[in-house]
Amino acid sequence: ASAAPSTVKIGLIPADGIGREVIPAARTVLESLSDGPKFEFVNLDAGFEYFQKTGTALPQETLDVLKNECNGALFGAVSSPSHKVAGYSSPIVALRKKLDLYANVRPVASVKSPAFPDQRELDMLIIRENTECLYIKSERQEVDPETGLKVAWADRKITEYASKRAGTMAFNMALTRQKLREQKPLEKRFWKQNPRVTIVHKSNVMSVTDGLWRETVRAVKEQNPDKYGGVDMEEQLVDSMVYRMFREPEAFDVVVAPNLYGDIISDGAAALVGSLGVVPSANVGDDFVVGEPVHGSAPDIAGKGIANPIAAIRSAGLLLEHLGHTQQALKMYDAVDAVLAEGKILTPDLGGKSTTTDVVNAVLKNL
Ligand code: ATP
Ligand code: MG
Repeated sequence: ASAAPSTVKIGLIPADGIGREVIPAARTVLESLSDGPKFEFVNLDAGFEYFQKTGTALPQETLDVLKNECNGALFGAVSSPSHKVAGYSSPIVALRKKLDLYANVRPVASVKSPAFPDQRELDMLIIRENTECLYIKSERQEVDPETGLKVAWADRKITEYASKRAGTMAFNMALTRQKLREQKPLEKRFWKQNPRVTIVHKSNVMSVTDGLWRETVRAVKEQNPDKYGGVDMEEQLVDSMVYRMFREPEAFDVVVAPNLYGDIISDGAAALVGSLGVVPSANVGDDFVVGEPVHGSAPDIAGKGIANPIAAIRSAGLLLEHLGHTQQALKMYDAVDAVLAEGKILTPDLGGKSTTTDVVNAVLKNL
């Protein structure tokens, strides 16, 4: 990546439900970082509620401001209607497409905390290809003339282009993580082996599609021995990946997967580290990055002031990290971890009685 910009303009898209509570919370934390970049923020519209008011879920103006003025964005959450609504499609899916955010990056790491007494130790980073696979949504249904019963089909698209981009990001992130670890004293490093990329696939069954994925990601290392020679590479069939991840989550460093497998294993991994309210993600492209907490709009608690802001704060950290402001990002992560480790100021999803604002104030105190 190029040099980190010294003024960072961030588009804030709270969208629906608790997005309106956790995105302002993350902004407050960003604003209180000292000796970091100078921040500018711009609030932007999108979401299901916005669609209900205006008939559009992602207005052109939001896209224009993001593309022309912003270095990155923070997205809250969208409500997903339980039934199909004519004319509506998810704005975050559209953003990923329009801004070419081709990888979803999701760190899943344990923190020692009274909130998670049975926590397994793990520190993995899942990279999910974000543009193709079954998500091209090419489906059709027909009636089998012989049986008179319905048959449904879906196409799955895997390209060398997208697989190579995702694979390259995986190897680069493995090197970056290693560099960051080396800044810590040995006893504080969780991962003590060579950096490692685990390629997830099912090419024993899907030999053409997953075969191309596997071969292309492997080639990233094989064709760049100077750059990636120090990164170990292993493969894991997706079913045994799930099994191993629950039995032995400490065995993974960077994991890279096609879209659908990545979706499934990253939600599974989130279950290993506590609440949905603490897991961040970033949608990353070559020119833009959008931080996005993994959770949804949580209509059951929206407006009550008790949403856990940690996933959003960590997503803001990921945003900074991908813009090159790594030291500021690390400060944010450390402050959040300190609050969790202390275990006194916790929102109800973590068994506490504190509010969103209480948690933000606790994070600020630790910054
Ligand atoms: P959506 O349709 O937007 O995905 P949902 O009903 O699936 O909404 P999620 O946001 O996915 O809701 O959340 C699932 C559960 O986890 C809900 O009970 C919600 O309250 C809880 N939850 C999610 N995020 C948070 C958070 N940040 N803080 C506290 N609880 C949360
Ligand atoms: Mg949900």
